[in-house]
Amino acid sequence: MPEIYLDHAATTPVRREALEAMWPFLTGEFGNPSSRHRLGEQAARALDDARARVAAVLGARPAEIVFTSGGTEADNLAVKGLALASPRGRHVLVAATEHEAVLESSDHLERMHGFAVDRLPVDALGQLPTLLPLLRDDTSLVSVMLANNEIGTVQPIAELAAEAHAAGARFHTDAVQAAGWLPLDVAALGVDALTISGHKVGAPKGVGALFLRRGARVEPVVHGGGQERGRRSGTEDVAGAVGLAVALELAEAERIGRADAVERMRDAFIRSVLAIAPEARLTGHPVERLAANASFCFPGTAGEAVLLQLAEHGVLCSSGSACAAGSDEPSHVLTALGLDGPTAQTAVRFTLASSTTDAELDAAVLALRASLDALGALSTRR
Ligand code: PLP
Repeated sequence: MPEIYLDHAATTPVRREALEAMWPFLTGEFGNPSSRHRLGEQAARALDDARARVAAVLGARPAEIVFTSGGTEADNLAVKGLALASPRGRHVLVAATEHEAVLESSDHLERMHGFAVDRLPVDALGQLPTLLPLLRDDTSLVSVMLANNEIGTVQPIAELAAEAHAAGARFHTDAVQAAGWLPLDVAALGVDALTISGHKVGAPKGVGALFLRRGARVEPVVHGGGQERGRRSGTEDVAGAVGLAVALELAEAERIGRADAVERMRDAFIRSVLAIAPEARLTGHPVERLAANASFCFPGTAGEAVLLQLAEHGVLCSSGSACAAGSDEPSHVLTALGLDGPTAQTAVRFTLASSTTDAELDAAVLALRASLDALGALSTRR
């Protein structure tokens, strides 16, 4: 049975172009960019080139890009680093629907550094219309993701960043899920910091980057030899940075055509799912959502049970975020929308890619119908 992978928000395969560009830096050109000899200088040039290419996609300067070990580390550096280095105050605002990398980083500031942290409530569709009620004179940092990993809801980042700046606070956005689907121009978004992760855009796991606006002071999270201009120590993953640059460039070049095509397929898929399971509910914003995200609650089921059934039919997806998978707690994202715990535990997330086909989605709908039927969740309506 061929498997149908509808979990691209969890991770993506490495693109051939990225792997081929990385290969030399894993083999013959293996130098350490800090070494003062030919191999080292070659590695340093490759790293500079990767940095310039990532910067170009974001509309940033190369010196504003810090390579990290992924999205989690970039979020940690942004949240802890900007807040701890800020002379302004000890108040931080994060959206209630942020990824754990942001939420746990802000909790750390509260626990270990005496910060006050407020979680910004979102509306029933997952959007955050304004920061104003919770912005304070001593707010040093606001962190709101560009698009949510579980429900795909897109936030009005430019407006929110403008509000934060008017109040004198720095603004970070986690763009891990948005990369390849939404424009990432840091000037248009008006952000001081922006996180991306390689493995969501066809680069390997374990590499990411943080855009840090020139002049934004940051306290490092990883201390050591002072690489990345002292902002992130550790011998740089040259091959990973090269892979990230190539994959991100390709994702950006293909973005508009891809988003339109995938959105059309996604909308047809949502219609089919709601037709076979009329009790199902689409979670997140119906329009302001990532083109590839179709996430639902299936009342009367357990999300995990639906997943297992779907997997038996070869359909691979997830219940909410991959990170929270296996946890018994209802998703903090879904409860932030106002869903009760039991309903939140009926969530299933399908995330598409440009490689997804109509035939795969048709098969996934049939598999879903069979799965819900097996769980007794369709009985009353058929
Ligand atoms: N932020 C968001 C929104 C994510 O979806 C993820 C990964 O699922 C991360 C951060 C963490 O990125 P990484 O897996 O590269 O550490």
